[in-house]
Amino acid sequence: MRFQSTKGQSPALTASRAMLMGAAPDGGLYVPQSFPQFSPNSFGDPEDLPGIAKTLLTSFFEDDALAADLANICRSVFNFPAPLKKLAENKHTLELFHGPSAAFKDFGARFLAASMDAMAGDDLPLTVLVATSGDTGGAVGCAFAKARTAKVVILYPKGRVSPLQERQLTCWPDSVTSLRVDADFDQCQALVKAAFADNGLKMRHGLSSANSINIGRLLPQMVYYATSALTIFRQTGKRANYIIPTGNLGNGMACLWARACGLPIGQVILAQNANRSLTDYFDGLGFAPRASIATIANAMDVGNPSNFERFTTGIDNLNHDLRALSVDDKAIANQISKDARALSHVWCPHSAIAAFSYDQLNADEKTRPWVLVATAHPYKFREIVEPLIPGNIPPCPELAAIESLPVHVTDIPATLDALAGVLTDGSELP
Ligand SMILES: *Cc1c(COP(=O)(O)O)cnc(C)c1O
Repeated sequence: MRFQSTKGQSPALTASRAMLMGAAPDGGLYVPQSFPQFSPNSFGDPEDLPGIAKTLLTSFFEDDALAADLANICRSVFNFPAPLKKLAENKHTLELFHGPSAAFKDFGARFLAASMDAMAGDDLPLTVLVATSGDTGGAVGCAFAKARTAKVVILYPKGRVSPLQERQLTCWPDSVTSLRVDADFDQCQALVKAAFADNGLKMRHGLSSANSINIGRLLPQMVYYATSALTIFRQTGKRANYIIPTGNLGNGMACLWARACGLPIGQVILAQNANRSLTDYFDGLGFAPRASIATIANAMDVGNPSNFERFTTGIDNLNHDLRALSVDDKAIANQISKDARALSHVWCPHSAIAAFSYDQLNADEKTRPWVLVATAHPYKFREIVEPLIPGNIPPCPELAAIESLPVHVTDIPATLDALAGVLTDGSELP
């Protein structure tokens, strides 16, 4: 299996080469050249996450350097559950927040880290650079904490992340270097881009990226769509329909790819916050990327979803039984409040967007099985959620585990010299 660039001007690569590259040299994003076809009978027990992962991902790693490691990688990555819980008849929620950073990004970050670590070695130094506005860096830092050979350097904007996020960015051991940059997020990102543009630096440290366009983050996200759709199909004989809180369209794209592989998935609704570029696109207004608007579902504050390019230039037709919906802050807050009281179910602000979207379905649609994707644990956003609900949110064990760890952080100014200095010192640390 090869992965081709959406811009078509770079050579097609196997999965692990595409992972090392991050984006393609022509500026495009890697997409699979074809989708392997499965039937529901192709899979074993849908509760067996690593087993389903191995079956689903094997074809994507055919002829790849990591093919022999794939089963081990899947076992180490998928070692926490992605439970499908029934809320009412034909209404389920898929909880993707039982990993170590309590958000769905753990699946992609951990798969990328395990793959990079399996590739890295004396002849291939590997340093993953990632700029974060908060959530991604926490998942990536945690995922690389146990890496033996690959290292990660996280850049985040000083004074612009929450205390819990800062702890998640800085509480990891040697393989993770956390840099608090005297800058905003855009400047952090510009610094990472400048480092990639410096060929000497790039070669010396084997720089690679862990941002959400990396194919190594998308492929593993197909797995929980497979397990949940198979579970529903075996119980009901019907296709599962999904409502997915959407920002950069990474999670949604993984669902569309799982459907393109023949998994029993019907309708897909991409549920956005007030950043409505996809909603406008599906309303026939064209795709107009724009500056992002700040909302209470801040991990989805994306005005220009980078994975949209994969949607329009992928080889298969992904655009069927698909729509988008935009939900404003007021509706999100009302939904959290309403479901906490009526259903005793507490959503994080992102997941509440899926819950609101479900309530907008018509009676006929509600006769089919739906899955509301829950992307983060509400405790992670308790400052927003607790004032809206009766009582407090019990702490989630995954996040409690990091509260006592010591933190390590280095302050740097927003210059390439400062970043290069840290990269060079870091390479001499044990
Ligand atoms: C990143 C994130 C999203 C958005 O996912 P995309 O793949 O960017 O569409 C939604 N919810 C939470 C909690 C997130 O961290």
